[in-house]
Amino acid sequence: MRLKKLFLVLIFITSFMLVCALLQPNIVIDKDEIDLNSNDFPSVNAYNCFGSLSKYINVENNIDNKNIGEYYIHSKVKYLIYNFKKSFIVHVVDNVNPNISLNGERESYVCPGKDYVEEGYTASDNYDGDITDNVIVDKQNDLIKYSVRDKSGNYSEIERKIIFIDREEPIIELKGGNDIYIYKDNKYIEMGYTASDNCDGDITNKVISTGTVDTTKVGTYTINYEVIDSSNNKTSIKRNVTVRERPIYYGDGIIYLTFDDGPSNLTGKILDILDEEDIKATFFVTKGGEYVKRAYNSGHTIALHTYSHNYSYVYASESNYFADLNNVSNSVYNTIGIRPNIIRFPGGSSNTISRNYNKGIMSRLVNDVTNRGYIYFDWNIDSNDAGGDGYNSNKIYNNVINGLSHNKTNVVLMHDSSSHSSSADALRDIIKYGKNNGYSFKAISSNTPVVRHGVNN
Ligand code: ZN
Repeated sequence: MRLKKLFLVLIFITSFMLVCALLQPNIVIDKDEIDLNSNDFPSVNAYNCFGSLSKYINVENNIDNKNIGEYYIHSKVKYLIYNFKKSFIVHVVDNVNPNISLNGERESYVCPGKDYVEEGYTASDNYDGDITDNVIVDKQNDLIKYSVRDKSGNYSEIERKIIFIDREEPIIELKGGNDIYIYKDNKYIEMGYTASDNCDGDITNKVISTGTVDTTKVGTYTINYEVIDSSNNKTSIKRNVTVRERPIYYGDGIIYLTFDDGPSNLTGKILDILDEEDIKATFFVTKGGEYVKRAYNSGHTIALHTYSHNYSYVYASESNYFADLNNVSNSVYNTIGIRPNIIRFPGGSSNTISRNYNKGIMSRLVNDVTNRGYIYFDWNIDSNDAGGDGYNSNKIYNNVINGLSHNKTNVVLMHDSSSHSSSADALRDIIKYGKNNGYSFKAISSNTPVVRHGVNN
């Protein structure tokens, strides 16, 4: 009886195992979708009632994880005499949202009452690339919504807020510069100003200026200019007006050699002579450049003459004159980093040629340049090296030494443009004469007593 029971159990187990071995195994895949570019490939498993059949599985696939699509996985399970096959479909999918980026800020400030001008945007997608053209812009009053969808349906949106506020302060520009120098007892002339605002435009008429200049007292005075735009942004700016003591007009017996119209190659030769004699001089230049740099570094005074030296242009109007002066000032500034305030008018302040182009312009310019802080110099000894018979070093020498006096400020006019080699030839003898006769040589400075002609126009 006991044996029979055991036998039945054995029969049962054997049948079960036989059935199990005959039945098709279960072949399963763990996922049927993977993300684009991910290396997370699906894995296939097989088992039957004995347990896992992993070691009998052979799997093949054609998955390209860099391309969206439908791919096949073919699996085979081979054991005993069996050969089971099963195929699966796997999708490579894009689940990444596209990216929108805005030019400008997420909060954009716009003048009240003005339209927002689109600053631009771009959209890109990990799979589709540039999809800027697909962006949908939805504008509602002060909110702009930018949205885009990629080919897989992934969606992104971003917002820009428009704030209708003027946050920028207006700008005041002073004509004639922020620093003005005038001589005591001269009249202070307000040169004017302009004011502009990013939203309101020209608001010059809203500028309020306060402050006074007492030209009877030496000192620095401040004029304040203030303007407020329609959104209450305020700007204020100052102009310093310095009232100076009028320079002394009597002589000091010093020789101030001055060279006009350079620099040129001749300037180098003149600088050599000045260096050897240890003399400082003054160059009224037409531009900057290496010779100007050398002269400046050697301690000579760089002063401004004219950029064009074209009388018909320079004296046609005050604005032409200052444009020309500004040109030479800029050129010098680019060379030595300073803007000289000592100047000489083309033809001198006494020139009459300017009458041909603008009656009375010299009378106005002598005040204008002074109000702008310039000190102009003429000369009282003409070497006549630019005159009709001037190209003779002996005559140049005599013209100069005959004009010298211990009782005056000796400002000698010479030229260092390239055609004046005879001036360089006369120079050493002029210096020797001066040294032998008790003169000293100096470069003109702001403190040098001015030497000026009478104005004839
Ligand atoms: Zn000149």
